[in-house]
Amino acid sequence: MKQIKCPNCGKETTWKDNPYRPFCSEKCKLADLSKWLNEEYTLFSEEPVVEEEADSRS
Ligand SMILES: [Zn+2]
Repeated sequence: MKQIKCPNCGKETTWKDNPYRPFCSEKCKLADLSKWLNEEYTLFSEEPVVEEEADSRS
């Protein structure tokens, strides 16, 4: 059986029959997701996206 390591806590878990893969549990899956969403949100709120192509054509 394939063994993987949970990206959130590093605990060894199995790939097969694991609804939360690649995480070991629902808790780790949600923790990683919320972390990712928070980083995304912080990125957008601190630095507005600059449209680089705005002045490239004249
Ligand atoms: Zn975990």
